Amino acid sequence: MENYKKIIEDIYLELKNVDDTGEVANYISELATVSPDNFGVNITTTNKENFGVGDFNTKFSIQSISKVFALTLAYKFEDAKLWERVNVEPSGNPFNSLLQLEANLGIPRNPFINSGAIVVCDVLCSHLKNPKEDFLDFCKEVSNNTDLKYNEKVAQSEKKSGFRNIALCNFIKSFGNIKNDVDEVLDFYFHICSLEMSCKELSKISLFLADDNFITNKGHRILTMSQAKRINAILLTCGFYDESGEFAFKVGLPGKSGVGGGIIAIHPDKYCIAVWSPKLNEKGNSYKGMLFLETFTTKTASSIF
Ligand code: GLU
Repeated sequence: MENYKKIIEDIYLELKNVDDTGEVANYISELATVSPDNFGVNITTTNKENFGVGDFNTKFSIQSISKVFALTLAYKFEDAKLWERVNVEPSGNPFNSLLQLEANLGIPRNPFINSGAIVVCDVLCSHLKNPKEDFLDFCKEVSNNTDLKYNEKVAQSEKKSGFRNIALCNFIKSFGNIKNDVDEVLDFYFHICSLEMSCKELSKISLFLADDNFITNKGHRILTMSQAKRINAILLTCGFYDESGEFAFKVGLPGKSGVGGGIIAIHPDKYCIAVWSPKLNEKGNSYKGMLFLETFTTKTASSIF
């Protein structure tokens, strides 16, 4: 950890005032109210050491990063049957695209674009009695942290402007790949996206993807080794919208970003790292977050390749 600490501090200082060409997401009006200058980093190692710099304790809207935890819970319920409802191929398209759904008969390309996450939410609505409450309880158990909440303002703000997601859900329903009521599924989807966590909380909750021996305080194993391998593989190939290849090329770790400006990256058997900087590049990923992680894996020589 000593080695990581120094490198993280150095890169943080180096990038803090870098000319950031990104823009804060504003298509969800609540997200635009966040200060663009926030910048935090936190690493959690598989031997449970923790280190953070900057705004690592400030909570923010994790947005699409929640898709990782939703997928994990759905995978626990359905195991391999899940892949009949959602594919595992990169889309090569923006996160909210409707384009491929028609040709693919309502089967989304992967669980990390919006269409795929909406299907995952539908799967969870079929399994959970109180989807919003039960999903939050699952996240609390995985992170051993009772201080997790949805941000109701963000959820309502997204509902108001969520025309593409509403279209996606209805379109998929027309192919029979949404089983529950579209309003219920969308309300659940908007809420999971509004979940708030700090970098510290995010790197801790992601540890089950890095640590093969991870069990919760209640004694539960989250995924089998094979399941964790598969989720990491989808993260590597599909975690960054239409920039997944670029992230693998530059950073070399499985990871997931969200339009709130957060990114998690996982080094299996070593660590999870979370970065937050709200300004996004033109592909919707945190500009500074990507730059930080590229520099970090280069300086620590710790990518999976
Ligand atoms: N709630 C956002 C949306 O559906 C999530 C997008 C993201 O973070 O990629 O547009």
